[in-house]
Amino acid sequence: MKITYDFGHGTGQDRGASGYRNEEHDCREYGALVIKKLQALGHTCYNCTPPASPALALGQSLAYRVNKANSIGSQLHICMHVNAFETDKATGCEVEYASASGQTYASKVSAEISAALGLTNRGPKNQPGLYVLKYTKMTAILVEPFFCDNKNDCSKYNAERLATAIVKGITGIDTSVKPKVIPKPAAQIAPKYDESMPSGSNIFNIPNIHGYIEETTDGRLTIHKDRGNYVAIGKGFSDLYWNDNNGNGGHKRICG
Ligand SMILES: [Zn+2]
Repeated sequence: MKITYDFGHGTGQDRGASGYRNEEHDCREYGALVIKKLQALGHTCYNCTPPASPALALGQSLAYRVNKANSIGSQLHICMHVNAFETDKATGCEVEYASASGQTYASKVSAEISAALGLTNRGPKNQPGLYVLKYTKMTAILVEPFFCDNKNDCSKYNAERLATAIVKGITGIDTSVKPKVIPKPAAQIAPKYDESMPSGSNIFNIPNIHGYIEETTDGRLTIHKDRGNYVAIGKGFSDLYWNDNNGNGGHKRICG
């Protein structure tokens, strides 16, 4: 999809709100992540934010965004902002729209933000008079994910989670950064064995030594450190057996 976007304010007389957090900073921070994720999903995105310089009057700043989006002819335009009202008086996320198709996006995006950040869902809000929503020719939404003058809202701000939620609302795709899967240690290969010294008529327990010699039923002579570690001497061959009783072990013909 061809997507245009603009980050709110940031030039001349068009200034963002400021409270516990700063709108111009935050909408550029989470907004950049939104665009990165949309691009990773294969969407073509065009920035319609006016540069900070030259300084523009409010009307010029808004017209710049609309004109650029209309000239590109995108299918969707996303305005990224942060809300403000009076200190600690308003809370939650909302997404503004001015068309039926905008309402569908607005509803999904607001619900995703609410779920991801644990914010009150103020939901989609019909704002047909908002300049950018009114004059852009394509479907457009204006994201107001939280109130920068509400302390509790600000404590929930997380740019990555917010961006993931917005992208999920728009595309239906979860782009959250997955924690790396730590591979499980390999299953134990060598079996555990009993570490006690055996006894029997075929076993010679070496005096004062932790070890023994055994004649096996198949006629081999085995010299043991313990039941798991030994050399087996047969007629014309010798085998070595080792086992650390911690999953690691094996055997190898050493001659013959
Ligand atoms: Zn704003």
